[in-house]
Amino acid sequence: MQKLRNNKFELIQMPPQNTQSLIVSSGRDCLVFDPWGRADDWDSVLQERGLKLRAIYLTHGHPDHIAAAPELAKRHNVSWYLHNADFRLVGWGNDLLEYFGLPPITINDVRPTELALERTEVLPNMFMEVIETPGHTPGGVAYHFPDEKILVIGDTLFQESIGRYDLPGGDKHMLFKSISNIYTMDLPADTEIIHGHGMATDISWLKANNPYFRK
Ligand SMILES: [Zn+2]
Repeated sequence: MQKLRNNKFELIQMPPQNTQSLIVSSGRDCLVFDPWGRADDWDSVLQERGLKLRAIYLTHGHPDHIAAAPELAKRHNVSWYLHNADFRLVGWGNDLLEYFGLPPITINDVRPTELALERTEVLPNMFMEVIETPGHTPGGVAYHFPDEKILVIGDTLFQESIGRYDLPGGDKHMLFKSISNIYTMDLPADTEIIHGHGMATDISWLKANNPYFRK
């Protein structure tokens, strides 16, 4: 598994597919981003590492990013945060989960919590900013950790391509604008980018290799 520069951030891919999930920890406390897979597998991973789950954050409302979130939230009595513009996507695409033998999601199981858009101290001395990135979905966001130089970008931008904009609520114009907004933030070149699928990159790599990463 690919290692990030900051060891508080751990990339993790749960079976049975290739969504890039992330564990962020500080001491024994942790957050999970985009938990694909089964809640049982997540529980094993958390137990192995001796971590206490404090919250779950989603980059967007697609099933391959949500899958384990409601059940994990219920078991650990924590919130799963999603931009409210993506609430209506919850439960869409359950056939994908069925295909992979995972339980379906309904919004009424364990409701998501509306994501606050301000800078928040999510773990002790760790600050996270939320950047709205509509386009792949209406409520897509990126999570930025400025001190740790990490950007969790979801399916907005991949290594050499962009996310789909032909799924429900997708919008090509918005997607290009969201990417342009991130470009113009002028983040440090070594800011690591965690994509919703595939290897992590960084800003300088994207500038050199991704033709869509521009103003
Ligand atoms: Zn997606």
